[in-house]
Amino acid sequence: LDAHIAPYVGENGELRGVVAVLHDVTETRRLEQIRSEFVANVSHELKTPITSVKGFAETLLDGAMYDEKTCREFLQIIYEESDRLHRLISDILDLSKIEQHRIPLKTEKLNVVDVVMETVNTTRKRIEKKQLELILPEQKAVMMEADKDRLQQIILNLVTNAIAYTPEKGRIEIRLEERESELDLIVSDTGIGISKKDLPRIFERFYRVDKARSRQSGGTGLGLAIVKHLVESYHGKIHVESEEGKGSTFTVTLPRTQEGPDAA
Ligand code: ADP
Repeated sequence: LDAHIAPYVGENGELRGVVAVLHDVTETRRLEQIRSEFVANVSHELKTPITSVKGFAETLLDGAMYDEKTCREFLQIIYEESDRLHRLISDILDLSKIEQHRIPLKTEKLNVVDVVMETVNTTRKRIEKKQLELILPEQKAVMMEADKDRLQQIILNLVTNAIAYTPEKGRIEIRLEERESELDLIVSDTGIGISKKDLPRIFERFYRVDKARSRQSGGTGLGLAIVKHLVESYHGKIHVESEEGKGSTFTVTLPRTQEGPDAA
């Protein structure tokens, strides 16, 4: 509550009363707090790779560059950290664009099976490296109206997570379940799972169950926040079930037709 209080003084200077103006600012305050927390988080996240790039570059300039092996090793770190910064910044920009409805929704008729195949193909190397078994949708064609880029981004984020949080020789399954007006896109894995305590928080920006693990797999902590916003921009829903040590199942439910462009 925001309060402004002023005395109400009569003609002869006598105090006649008090004027109080009360404003309910709870919502504004809450939004301000969320925003400033986000800025603090972003700054912190950006600082880590920058500090590392700076430190290794300095050490190289101080003489480490004359040893070829060290030079190569440090440059590799600098490269990886810059790459991380790049990903982080593009995720932050994406999230802010989606939130401010600044990405136009291009709706077209799509075969979701094709989109799944195309997207998964970009992750083949990682899947093979971990010797993961991959089960793909059994349908040949499942049609829906959607924006291809956004749909790809949803699938890619979920599959990338499934790969990152599933130990070698595990299994990842992508399924499509059709109903008349809706479609379920299901990505499940036999990975490390998520505890009951963490489950409600994983869609928050920068929330990670295990920071070191997320970092190691190249995560930015923004993937699921982006997915959630994208799904909501389609008036869809996302749901997750998980058991620690057993695996996780993410279910995205999307309407199959879009009633006019709406990026809300
Ligand atoms: P990150 O870049 O860290 O993967 P996300 O927003 O994509 O960020 O996910 C947030 C957190 O949720 C992850 O750090 C991880 O702890 C947890 N998580 C997401 N997907 C899975 C999954 N398939 N299995 C286990 N944990 C997951």
